Amino acid sequence: MLKNKIYKNINIIVMGLCISFFCCAYSSHASESHDHESESHDHEKRQLGSHEHGVSTLQIALEGQNIQMELESPANDIIGFEHLPKNNKQKAEVNHALSLLQEPNGVFIFSSEANCKIKNNKAEFEVEKGEGATHAGFHVTWKIKCDNPKRLKNLETTFFKLFQNAKEIEVEIISGSGQEAIEWESSMTKIELPAS
Ligand SMILES: [Zn+2]
Repeated sequence: MLKNKIYKNINIIVMGLCISFFCCAYSSHASESHDHESESHDHEKRQLGSHEHGVSTLQIALEGQNIQMELESPANDIIGFEHLPKNNKQKAEVNHALSLLQEPNGVFIFSSEANCKIKNNKAEFEVEKGEGATHAGFHVTWKIKCDNPKRLKNLETTFFKLFQNAKEIEVEIISGSGQEAIEWESSMTKIELPAS
């Protein structure tokens, strides 16, 4: 379905293999800090370092009445740490974030005229332990059905209000009119959707 994403994933795997050699070679010098935090916004580099704090990705596939969305966010943006919860407070923070990401009204809100309803919504907290620093993220999927897809005009979000460490969402929209990339900065209240 999301051909581009599959391609991207393959890219990440290939690059991941390359970087793992690099990591091994330098692991004796690796510090425990999140070394990617100070790195530039260079796109290729971000893929190598798995994710960039402050930047989430959102894939949106529009197909007639059906919308599928997939969000990946660095856990640092959502809960402020990237490891398994170490105490009850952190456990509660993870669970609270998961419930926010599964709000019945949705974190991402489509034009009301389109009359969209969430049919399925899953949120997971994932911890990935690699060489050196541990990273964690939230992975959320939505399946949505809209009565009037022709009236889909824009998309709003509560994401930046809920999670103030989040600065940007890299959006990729796949629809009948092709593929579009949008950099959704926290200062933007909404983005426009392609006409169907
Ligand atoms: Zn990280």
